[in-house]
Amino acid sequence: MGITILCVDDVKTNLFTLEAIFESNRKDYNIITAMSGKEALEILLTTEVDLILLDVMMPELDGFDTAKLILKNKKTKDIPIIFLTAKQDDETIRTSYEVGGVDYMNKPFNVTELLKRIEFHLKLKESEKLIHLEKQQIQSLINLQDNFVLLTDGVKALKINSAIEEFFRIKSITEFQEKYGCICKVFIKENGYYHLGMVESEELWISDVIEKLKNEDVIVKIKDMDENDHIFTIKAVRFQSDLYILSFTDITSMSEQSREYEYEASHDPLTQIYNRNMFLRIMKDKIKQRVFANKGLSLCVLDIDHFKDVNDTYGHLVGDNVLKHLVRLIEGHIRTDDLFARWGGEEFILVFDFKLAEAYNKVEYLRELIEKENFDVVGNITCSFGVSEYKYGDSIDGLINVADKALYEAKNSGRNKVCQI
Ligand code: GH3
Ligand code: MG
Ligand code: MG
Repeated sequence: MGITILCVDDVKTNLFTLEAIFESNRKDYNIITAMSGKEALEILLTTEVDLILLDVMMPELDGFDTAKLILKNKKTKDIPIIFLTAKQDDETIRTSYEVGGVDYMNKPFNVTELLKRIEFHLKLKESEKLIHLEKQQIQSLINLQDNFVLLTDGVKALKINSAIEEFFRIKSITEFQEKYGCICKVFIKENGYYHLGMVESEELWISDVIEKLKNEDVIVKIKDMDENDHIFTIKAVRFQSDLYILSFTDITSMSEQSREYEYEASHDPLTQIYNRNMFLRIMKDKIKQRVFANKGLSLCVLDIDHFKDVNDTYGHLVGDNVLKHLVRLIEGHIRTDDLFARWGGEEFILVFDFKLAEAYNKVEYLRELIEKENFDVVGNITCSFGVSEYKYGDSIDGLINVADKALYEAKNSGRNKVCQI
């Protein structure tokens, strides 16, 4: 299949000249001629053409109108059109490009220049075709993946695979961009999952994720269109300065067993609240968030007063029930954003996203609540509390130590107290 060039001109001698030029320079080109715009359109209906040399001034349908029709047609819209005209005014040159011509040349033209420009535009078209083909291949490749695969500059998704389209019930990348912009917008803000609250500004999330991935898995929660939660692990590669490929693997349907393991590893078996491990994990994130959000962050250590006596008097089982009852009571009076964990024994930890004074009031409220509560078998119990506030640069250990000191003070000054440092 050789190259076919369609030459359109209402002056027969011009066509004759062109044919002669190709005959003596590029025999390999297959030349077709048309003497009007209308004839050119008719030819294009039935013949594959690689490039068009188009005269501007022609009776009835002029070159510009002919070009507009050619470029409107799905079948012919990619054919490069070079205008050849005797007109030299700015308006003509501008219109040549505006209607979609790839080039413009004056008649009479320099033969070498004309041949070189034709070669250039044929090559350009060929490489555009290749790029288009490669893009299609890449798209088919990513569509083969069950994972979510997307290309992003970190701010918005640039390419998505069909797994994403199906999940979000959308039909195109444009629809995705209009609805969500960035995939990061759909991450549910929940403890234990990665979300935008953890980064200083939204644009930084992708580099943050890549940094995190060096040490740990990044897990996000995304709701599907039926409001069902899905858990994903993310893989991310940066492959150009501002381009990243992300892959999301849905691990929601991980075996029940491993989810149980996950639960056991993060929860206290007696009270079902978070254990020390999970507390530390979430606390790390909270510290990061608090630095960015510039909110307060306060921690409270809570210890039941004379709990040994409860066990000694009523037995271990009653002691256990008191622990469970206490946890349910506190849970009922804190927000879901507050972090509540069993530190060990009869000691618990509470973390609030507010400054010390507010945390103190909240804890004082809890202290009174516990004091007034009637516990089965044992009646009334009390707790002592130590409160501390996170300051920039503090370690979790440091923060707990300070709260522990405050707790020690509360114990030493008569128990059933909230002390702060
Ligand atoms: P203080 O006011 O100084 O805190 O006195 P205390 O008796 O509460 O403190 P101590 O540390 O001497 O005793 C803590 C007790 O808590 C001893 C331990 O048996 C009991 N305990 C720790 N974990 C559990 C548990 O899971 N179940 C029960 N029933 N008791 C527990
Ligand atoms: Mg204790
Ligand atoms: Mg105690």
